[in-house]
Amino acid sequence: MSEFVFAPPATPAVAIEGGGRFPIHRIYCVGRNYADHVREMGSQPTAPFFFMKPADALVANGAAIPYPPRTANLQHEIELVAALGRAGRNLSPASALEYVFGYAAGIDLTRRDLQSAAKQGGLPWDSGKGFDHSAPVAAIRPAARGHLSRGRIWLEVNGETRQDSDLSMMLTSVPQLIAELSTLYELRAGDLIFTGTPAGVGALQPGDRLEGGIEGLEVLRNTIAARASLP
Ligand code: MN
Repeated sequence: MSEFVFAPPATPAVAIEGGGRFPIHRIYCVGRNYADHVREMGSQPTAPFFFMKPADALVANGAAIPYPPRTANLQHEIELVAALGRAGRNLSPASALEYVFGYAAGIDLTRRDLQSAAKQGGLPWDSGKGFDHSAPVAAIRPAARGHLSRGRIWLEVNGETRQDSDLSMMLTSVPQLIAELSTLYELRAGDLIFTGTPAGVGALQPGDRLEGGIEGLEVLRNTIAARASLP
C-alpha cells in the first residue's frame, strides 16, 4: 500500500516526433537573449539570466489556454526549447550539446503587467512568468536529426505576423546557455530550457489564435480561451 496520503500528480510530458513522450523534470527559461527584444523592453543588454516555470505549467500543442487571472496584459514570447536527455553539472560549451535530447517550439506566456510591477519593485518574477498554463510546447524533434543554431523563428496571432526572426540572432548560444545553467543547477534528463524570445512580443485577448514555429520543427497552435473564473 502506498504511503502517499493522496494520489501523486501525473508527470507532465511532451510528445516526441516519431512516437513516445518526454517526461518533464523542470522548466528553465532564459531572459534577454535577443538584442532587439532587450531594446523593445527598454532594458540594457546584460549576460543572460534564468528563471523557472513549474513543470505542470506545460500545455499541449492544440490545447485551448484559459486567459489567466490577475492580468490585463497577457503576452506571447515564441522561443526555441531545448530538451535535455542526460544529467550533468559544470558542463563545457563544447560538450553541452551531447546532453540535448531534442528541440521544440514553445511560447513563454507572460503576465506582463505583473512582471513589470515586480521589476519596478525589485521583486521576484514568479507570478508574472510561472503561472498555470504558461508553457505551451509543440512536439520535440530528436537531436539525432540535427542541432539548431539557425533558422526562422516566428509567431502569428490570428494570421498576422507578430514575431519574425532567426535563431542565429541569439546573444548566447544554446550550448553556452546549457553550460552556464549547469553551473547553477544540476541538470537532469527531462529538463526543458526556453532560450529567449526575439522582438515583437505583444498582448493577447480571449479568442486569439496563436501559430508559432521554428524552421524544421512542429508548428505550435493554441487558442486563448475565456478568462478562467476566479475562485
Ligand atoms: Mn521569455
